[in-house]
Amino acid sequence: MAKKDYYEILGVSRNAGEPEIKKAYRQMALKFHPDKNPDDKQAEERFKEAAEAYEVLSNSEKRARYDQYGHEGMKGMPGGGYGGGMSMDDIFSQFGDIFGGAFGGGFGFTGGNRRRVNKGTNLRVKVRLTLEEIAKGVEKKIKVNKLVSCSTCHGTGAAGGSSHSTCQHCHGTGQITRVTNTFLGQMQTSSTCPYCNGEGQTITNKCTTCAGSGTARGEEVISLNIPAGVSEGIQLSVGGKGNAAPRGGIPGDLIVQIEEIPHDDLIREGVNILYEHYISFPEAALGTSIEIPTIEGKVRIKIEPGTQGGKVLRLKGKGIPSLNGYGRGDQLININVWTPRNLSRQETETLENLMNSENFKPNPGSKDRSFFDRMKEYFQ
Ligand SMILES: [Zn+2]
Ligand SMILES: [Zn+2]
Repeated sequence: MAKKDYYEILGVSRNAGEPEIKKAYRQMALKFHPDKNPDDKQAEERFKEAAEAYEVLSNSEKRARYDQYGHEGMKGMPGGGYGGGMSMDDIFSQFGDIFGGAFGGGFGFTGGNRRRVNKGTNLRVKVRLTLEEIAKGVEKKIKVNKLVSCSTCHGTGAAGGSSHSTCQHCHGTGQITRVTNTFLGQMQTSSTCPYCNGEGQTITNKCTTCAGSGTARGEEVISLNIPAGVSEGIQLSVGGKGNAAPRGGIPGDLIVQIEEIPHDDLIREGVNILYEHYISFPEAALGTSIEIPTIEGKVRIKIEPGTQGGKVLRLKGKGIPSLNGYGRGDQLININVWTPRNLSRQETETLENLMNSENFKPNPGSKDRSFFDRMKEYFQ
């Protein structure tokens, strides 16, 4: 399903100013506020959707990027409205003020432990593959520069011997709850605890190597098993091989984008391989054998006497395996007949004599003639 346009979500024009966007968001947020629509999943979705749109459009840098690249451009931006969007916690901690007096600044999640688990960011790499590698599948070792777990504190962020203690401000819940009196009555509101960033605990003594983050810049050699049949633009995801998360959270993923290195002679078309070969006019008439390249090396094939230019020969199973494991394509060879461009006087005379010969007059049968039928047959 296509993601909705952020401007459409907020019901503003593409050149709306900041106050207009803010006003539109406030209206949407109040209309679909969970306190007003208890247990209404649809309202909650609209509420989140509006927050995501506002998050991007209220930030000039993100907005410019979105205007230029659309939703694609938001991928990989921190909090950039990509993926599942924002959580209720994020919405209230970031935009709570926008609700003003109406809801007392937040939304009360009562009970439950809403501690935040840190997640590392995803890492993107490109891998260039030859057609031969794509046909067979390949194991690639790549070296990536990324955030790794700090070796001094083993990713905990705490200096040797010291430990984590429960955050005194939120008592380990990661949330600060506040009760306010508003004209609508008493409202319980909660937001992410700013003292522990929602983690619920703080470090007594921070590791000096990583300043308490638990991560450090490093290199890792990662072995990738690339299956046969991948193609340009495909993305493979390797779970947990992205950047390390702060203080022992869950690492991000490694996203591998495939690029095909063009082959000198062969052209890939889906699971099939296309190749074009010229034979001489006498070879077409008398028959011959030719050597042609395939992804598995050279192969010799026979050209029957009387072969017409434009004939397509098929080498079954010499194509690319399909990525889902079902079957394998073919190599299709288009035979062209070379027409000489420069002729000596003697050659000209010989051809003039042949031109009048009955056997040299074109007399195609239906098999030689129907280009479209042949194409249908070979590309089915
Ligand atoms: Zn450390
Ligand atoms: Zn706290």
